[in-house]
Amino acid sequence: MSYLAKNYNRKKISFKYGRGSYLFSSNGKKYLDFVMGISVNSLGHAHPKLIKTINNQSKKLWHISNAFQIPEGERLAKKLCQKTFADYVMFQNSGAEATEAAIKVARRYFYSIGKPNKNRILCIKNSFHGRTLAAIFASGSKKMTEGFGPKISGFDHFKFGDHKSLKKKINKNTAAIMVEPIMGEGGIKEIPDWCLKELRKLCNKKKILLILDEVQCGISRSGDFFAFEKSKIKPDIVPIAKGIGGGFPIGAVLMNKKVAVGMIPGTHGSTFGGNPLAMAVGNTVMDIVSSKKFLKNVKSLSKYFLLKLNNIKDQYPNIIKEIRGRGFLLGIQLYKDQSKFIKKLMDNRLLTIRAAENVVRILPPLNVKKKELDKALKIINKVCSELK
Ligand SMILES: *Cc1c(COP(=O)(O)O)cnc(C)c1O
Repeated sequence: MSYLAKNYNRKKISFKYGRGSYLFSSNGKKYLDFVMGISVNSLGHAHPKLIKTINNQSKKLWHISNAFQIPEGERLAKKLCQKTFADYVMFQNSGAEATEAAIKVARRYFYSIGKPNKNRILCIKNSFHGRTLAAIFASGSKKMTEGFGPKISGFDHFKFGDHKSLKKKINKNTAAIMVEPIMGEGGIKEIPDWCLKELRKLCNKKKILLILDEVQCGISRSGDFFAFEKSKIKPDIVPIAKGIGGGFPIGAVLMNKKVAVGMIPGTHGSTFGGNPLAMAVGNTVMDIVSSKKFLKNVKSLSKYFLLKLNNIKDQYPNIIKEIRGRGFLLGIQLYKDQSKFIKKLMDNRLLTIRAAENVVRILPPLNVKKKELDKALKIINKVCSELK
């Protein structure tokens, strides 16, 4: 029997070790891992530079309090700001903590400029921002919030793509709109660039803040460092996590100068957030995944992969409805429930994971090799032909 609580529906498989894009199971099988801890292991398993970093740092310093200077965190924050819209960074340990902290930054900004009633956050109905109490009520999902009342108030919702209701839901108490540029759990649904542009304009007009949750789609996964970059807009606040630690738990909130005024000493904190061990790893991941050459490679290889996936879709138009996403945040949307498809991929040694709307989510490591993509394509093709 297992002494672990039953809050996950785990597959009956465990792994002994991982190397690059592959996982090796306890019973000796080799799997192509296109889950990557759900967009977390950006550089695959056991990347030599990450091993070296963690070994070196582990001999120096693991953890100290945020009561002291942490040069490794200063370095990572500087890199994140120099690469993006941000002026300041606040480190956390996970995505949900980062989205919650983003909400805190937004509310605290309006409080600090004398508008404490501007505190409501407008989100997409059935979105995903994590599993803490505030984050589940931010999602507006019945399934995630059921049984976890009393309801955390302060969130309003609009339907994805429903611009009329979005505009209607903004009122004098609205502080911010919070959305994912590409919805991960929600089924790899992209907010088009023109829409992000309009969102920015709307926020400017209404004098509210734009929070873009890049926990899943950020850190080079989309082919740009941030998924919103393609739209050329600048958000006010961006929570990140998943990919930045390459497997080590790191979260962060990036913010511009304007909103940072509220975050004075004592307003927020985290015991573990930004500790030297985490920051050392974050710096190494950042150095690799944010380089121009690396991003160019993600873009070109993922374009190739997307094209081939669309070819498979054309071959099996009765099985595959749509290929979604960009970069290495991709989804195969099926007409039917995706469980059987995912199981068959796994039987053929390719690991993928579900997302909403019958989507099979595909998240290769960002440094995946072309021959590994070809191998995955072959397996996907085979499974389609078996299900035909
Ligand atoms: C995964 C995810 C989160 C929550 O991250 P955790 O580390 O699981 O708390 C928040 N927002 C988005 C968009 C995510 O994909």
